Amino acid sequence: MNYKSTRDGSATTLASKAIIKGISVDGGLFVPSRFPNVEEKLSELMNLDYKSLAAKVMHLYLNEFTVEQLKDYANTAYSDYDHEGIVPTHSLDNGLHMLELWHGPTLAFKDMALQMLPLLLQGSLKIQDFKEKILILVATSGDTGKAALAGFADVSGTAISVFYPDGGVSKAQLLQMVTQDGDNVDVNGIRGNFDDAQSAVKQLFGDEDFNAKAKELGFALSSANSINWGRLLPQIVYYFYAYFGLCKSKDISLGDKINVCVPTGNFGNILAAYYAKRMGLPIDKFICASNVNNVLTDFFTTGVYSTKRDFVKSNSPSMDILISSNLERLLYHISGEDDKFIQNIMQELKDNKEYKVSDELKAKLQAEFAVGYCDEQTTLETIKKVFDTENYLMDPHTAVAHNVASEYKKKTGDNTPCVIASTASPYKFTDSVLMALGEDVGDEVFANASALNKATGVVIPKKLLELKDKAERFKGVCDKQEMKQVILDWIKNNGQ
Ligand SMILES: *Cc1c(COP(=O)(O)O)cnc(C)c1O
Repeated sequence: MNYKSTRDGSATTLASKAIIKGISVDGGLFVPSRFPNVEEKLSELMNLDYKSLAAKVMHLYLNEFTVEQLKDYANTAYSDYDHEGIVPTHSLDNGLHMLELWHGPTLAFKDMALQMLPLLLQGSLKIQDFKEKILILVATSGDTGKAALAGFADVSGTAISVFYPDGGVSKAQLLQMVTQDGDNVDVNGIRGNFDDAQSAVKQLFGDEDFNAKAKELGFALSSANSINWGRLLPQIVYYFYAYFGLCKSKDISLGDKINVCVPTGNFGNILAAYYAKRMGLPIDKFICASNVNNVLTDFFTTGVYSTKRDFVKSNSPSMDILISSNLERLLYHISGEDDKFIQNIMQELKDNKEYKVSDELKAKLQAEFAVGYCDEQTTLETIKKVFDTENYLMDPHTAVAHNVASEYKKKTGDNTPCVIASTASPYKFTDSVLMALGEDVGDEVFANASALNKATGVVIPKKLLELKDKAERFKGVCDKQEMKQVILDWIKNNGQ
């Protein structure tokens, strides 16, 4: 399988190279040159356990690796899960099926990809006989940072530096990051919001001086943000698995269509569902759920993508975003792989902070994607309502999706069974969940967790309790302009 850049379809590259590089030299994102079709093989794939399914599906895109090798990776990546089904589905009323993607080590769905990516990267380095060490730079709104740290900690040949918006992540997220073990990890806050952190990291990738200095120190840059193909690929798997689960529970028959609703930020998770459909999984509609930062709702509705708006800090911070990077991949595919078009709109976005797509393209998007957003108050009300009526506890991100999926059903009368990506444990966002339930919120992470446990009976994840005994290792906060020096100083002094 070959890969192309969304901004230059003429040059092709191998998966191993795409995974090492993260982003193409032209600024584009790597995409597979075709989608393997498994429509005829669904009944065969249906009986595989999660790890075997992961190996099979990933192998379709990674022929430089053997299935056995990928199975080994899956065994390692999904070993530290606190549910034997790895990604269980919890069915609620109204044909809504909650796909719980957060039973991994950091309590958010990002583990699904970030426990796998380091293994794919190590394998890729070997295939390419790559001599330099890899420096992973991450901008995080909270969940990616911890998941990437957990995935890369003490992985030989790599170092990882994470930047989070100071004051922009939850208490549990912050504690998870600053207590991270590992000799090859660094964590810093930056003064600014997530988009500031993400654009600063993106800028460093293109900064020749920075790249040269890192190289002198023996490092080549790579990315663990969801633009990396090695992040996207493992996420395709669970949509297949969820679909097969609904077949087994007789909620649907093989071949029936489902809808998929995803609480969306950088558009990685929902794009993985789109890729599953392109491979032959019977998905009808994608429901793209946003919070008050509803740049995607507006885009799919009007055809205008505009970042000329205020960035709002919400109670679903992992979706607080104005530039949704993976949308570029969707537009590439939907426009018939028009790389010039992508170049143009991305230039416009940079120069004018907005772009507009044609009515024809908008119609194509609307044929497959429904959209909606959920405000702050409604998010909290949804958590309370679903807990009170169905005894099911959701985190704010998942609640956004639940609300948008319910509203979509009401508005359209579409009763297709809907898989909702449940993206985080409620214990990762304890303060908001307590507030939603009308409980008191204190300052202390573990006291709040106990209060939530008392109010709901939902068990506190072991991975959260373990943080109690850990020292806070990282206290740094810097300005955007200082990031470059902070990283170079760190790899000079401590980088493995
Ligand atoms: C990252 C994240 C999202 C958004 O996922 P994208 O792939 O960026 O769209 C939603 N919910 C949670 C809890 C997350 O951590």
